[in-house]
Amino acid sequence: MISLQNVSKAFSGQPVIQSVALSIEQGEIHGIIGASGAGKSTLLRLMNLLERPDTGRIEFDGMDLTNLSNRQLRQTRQNIGMIFQDFNLVGNKTVEQNIAVSLELSGVKKREWTNRIEECLRFVGLESFARKYPSELSGGQKQRVAIARALANRPRVLLCDEPTSSLDPSTTSEILRVLQNINQALGVTIVLVSHEMQVIQSICNRVTIMADGQIETTIATEPAGITEITSDAGWFLTQLT
Ligand code: ATP
Ligand code: MG
Repeated sequence: MISLQNVSKAFSGQPVIQSVALSIEQGEIHGIIGASGAGKSTLLRLMNLLERPDTGRIEFDGMDLTNLSNRQLRQTRQNIGMIFQDFNLVGNKTVEQNIAVSLELSGVKKREWTNRIEECLRFVGLESFARKYPSELSGGQKQRVAIARALANRPRVLLCDEPTSSLDPSTTSEILRVLQNINQALGVTIVLVSHEMQVIQSICNRVTIMADGQIETTIATEPAGITEITSDAGWFLTQLT
């Protein structure tokens, strides 16, 4: 579905991605793991051409994204949703307005907005939160809104850059469950970047290991399942009684 061939990228002469070849298959949950600075975020941003490669091809369904006109690129990008560690919600807009901004940018007709907003909020279990502001939400709820906003455009791939890194363990499990559900129920392909092995192991079918801007290896894995991680508070309280 997404294929990178011989892709390289440097910032101010410093190589950050070096001759990378990688293929993301339709329907999989593909993990990318590596140390800080390994180039994971850059690799993810290359997949939807938020970064332009210096060399190489980046294909979506066999189309080379680097050759598309701006209009064609905008169209193709509607198939590719993205979420981030810090959620990237607009603070002075409500949940439904945040989603509407994204629908407007992708050129979805205004008369469809209400349906789309309802549909995606229902999917992440936040249908009653449409009129709330981001500051009124927990971290997990903010990430659900960000996921809903990405889903509103009905993407075929969801690129996730450290989506659970600022969440506590139990909220992390909750978001991983949402991502797995999106993959299984909607058939959306997922690329999941994380530096936490436990996160990657829990839901990924294949894992790519990155170091110093290169791919060390890609391995097939059996998803280990989302372990019920709870916060330590309960254990702590039992020690007090
Ligand atoms: P982390 O786990 O900390 O998020 P990462 O694996 O996602 O790290 P990247 O963010 O892709 O790593 O960064 C890889 C390298 O590229 C780093 O050395 C970083 O400083 C550099 N880099 C990334 N983006 C830019 C940019 N826009 N301009 C200059 N250098 C950049
Ligand atoms: Mg990163």
